[in-house]
Amino acid sequence: MDSDAEEFLGGVKSVGIPPSRLKGILLTHLHNEYSAGAAFLKSEFNVPVYYAEGDRPYLTRQTATKGMRGGLGKHVPEEGVLVLLRGLLEEAAPEVVTANHLETYGESIEGSFRVITTPGHTDGHVAYVHKTPCSVATRSQSWRIARA
Ligand SMILES: [Zn+2]
Repeated sequence: MDSDAEEFLGGVKSVGIPPSRLKGILLTHLHNEYSAGAAFLKSEFNVPVYYAEGDRPYLTRQTATKGMRGGLGKHVPEEGVLVLLRGLLEEAAPEVVTANHLETYGESIEGSFRVITTPGHTDGHVAYVHKTPCSVATRSQSWRIARA
């Protein structure tokens, strides 16, 4: 996802969901293709952001690389997989994403999702289990849209 969340917003509009129904942002992990638009969406729609402590240093840019490598990353366009390359070069999210809540294993988020910690891909990787049986949000579904 790019920093202006254009792809995400186009996706939800294409399935008939107005972006104004966004109730919260559940990040599964730090990689830019899943998190880069979170700062924009949080600001634009005034919604809370959730992620785990293990990914906080990256998402708050405490890990940002200085010097030539970091400077090079800023010139990588946020198109397709290049958004991931940008994050790998900069070693940080393109914009600071401050969590409204740092998740822990087993807790309930937004009354509908239970947090399952799944470190390995990143230190703070999590999955979300929806209260409806057989509905799990994982790496490919980093965002939640409310149905109500
Ligand atoms: Zn990833």
